[in-house]
Amino acid sequence: MNRLGLHLRPWSISLLKLHMLTMNSERYLSKVHQMFINNGLMTFSQTNKKNFTIQWNKELDERGYEKLVGMFLEIESENKTPQLLQFDSLVSNWAFNTKRPELAERWLNFRLQKECSRAVKVSLVLDYINSFTGLRPEEIDEQKIINSVREIKTDIMNTDNITFAKVIPPLCMTSGYKSCMELMKEYTKIFTKDVYLLPKNLAYRLPDVVDAAIRKDDFKFAAEIIREHKDIANHFLFKLWKGLLKHSDTLSVDRIFELFSSVDNFNLPHSIEDDLLQILEKDQKQWKVFKNRSIKGKHCENCGEKIEPHVFDGEGIEMIKTNISATLDRHNKDRFSTFLQFLHSLEDINYVVDGMWLNHHFIMKEKKTFHSTMELEDYLHQYLPGRKLIIARNVFFHQNEHIFDDPDVIGFPVNYSDDERKKSASSLDDLFLLYAALQFNQSCYIVTGDYMRDHISKLKENLTELCSRWILSKSIKTFQRVSPNTWELPITAKPFVKTKKGWHISTSDRIHSPRVWCIQECK
Ligand SMILES: [Zn+2]
Repeated sequence: MNRLGLHLRPWSISLLKLHMLTMNSERYLSKVHQMFINNGLMTFSQTNKKNFTIQWNKELDERGYEKLVGMFLEIESENKTPQLLQFDSLVSNWAFNTKRPELAERWLNFRLQKECSRAVKVSLVLDYINSFTGLRPEEIDEQKIINSVREIKTDIMNTDNITFAKVIPPLCMTSGYKSCMELMKEYTKIFTKDVYLLPKNLAYRLPDVVDAAIRKDDFKFAAEIIREHKDIANHFLFKLWKGLLKHSDTLSVDRIFELFSSVDNFNLPHSIEDDLLQILEKDQKQWKVFKNRSIKGKHCENCGEKIEPHVFDGEGIEMIKTNISATLDRHNKDRFSTFLQFLHSLEDINYVVDGMWLNHHFIMKEKKTFHSTMELEDYLHQYLPGRKLIIARNVFFHQNEHIFDDPDVIGFPVNYSDDERKKSASSLDDLFLLYAALQFNQSCYIVTGDYMRDHISKLKENLTELCSRWILSKSIKTFQRVSPNTWELPITAKPFVKTKKGWHISTSDRIHSPRVWCIQECK
């Protein structure tokens, strides 16, 4: 139930933009669907044992409309709100598919003649304005959408976020697209103090707003939205990419890259590479693409310019830090406050090292790993040049006291807190490690074999993907296969960097094997 007392209606969402619906079992057909099919308004066909499709019949004449009203009255007599709402959604979906918002308008007027709750009215109006979204923006009467939104504005703030998100696509077809961002912020504020934590269902709609801004040549606004939300969920960034490339007929390659240049830690997905190449071919400027074989050398093999690494400096990173800090403060307050003072006294650190992971590899020699042939202090000296902060349980310090003779090796022991002993908190040593790495974020790598998935999953929803990206780009964990002479720090490449002669575009989402394309104008 949402806050206005409505059940969510999966049909209204899944049907919204589908001309054809594929399902894997007949039992999902609701009574309302059956009714539409039996009355010849929809066609049902079984494609094989498991799959079937439902298709809209295109025409609805006056007799058809009367039939529709009759069907509705029959359902209405049963007095089940979810069924009625499903019925409404199907009608608006039909209007969308046949590109006839006038049908949706007629239906809305018919429905509003009857008494209905505010929640039902919101739903009816949203269904109506969404019937416009099948048209081109120039075909719509935008005032109708803007007025409708105005009418339900107060009530929509009390709906669940799936329902709320339905206001965005129609509003983005109008000159009121800018008000979407204000509405979203206002709505998000009701749920959380952090406006940054836009619910995923809303984040997924941001590309619609960017799209609207680009259609209106409002690049400043488009760039602003991208910049403000660059650290959020991967699927939003992916959708944004797809959306922007669709404008390649009117946008130059430079303009597309400029719009994206604030995205600094999510690389161009592999699946979009071909689209990008096609766009480069079509652009007025003639572009030549050189693909770097690797970025180990840290400089472009083509133009010699430095390849810039991922950047994590936004509000999201601060929020992850705050989150971790709150957990440590709750479950191991004393040790954490000592830790904070200790960090404060440290100069820059190049590696934050998971001591328990080192122990696992260097002390358990019977495992016959690469490390068992090497002494721990040699490893630290040869493989991790620079200052290292080792965080581990006390046992590590008893066993490896000698390694701290080196002034570049610094240690911090983490005791078991009462909460950990009582099992009211899960293992906290990794969180100390992550906190230190966040503190020295710009200068350090994390040395660990752990992906920290447990810890990531406990963060708030929009921070989890950012945190995974951050940990992956910072972690050194595959060095077992690297021979001492060729050892180099892994480097992650920033996705869009303007160079003297063109652009560096990092084209892989597999963080440890990014490929950098050097794209230059042919003169
Ligand atoms: Zn280059």
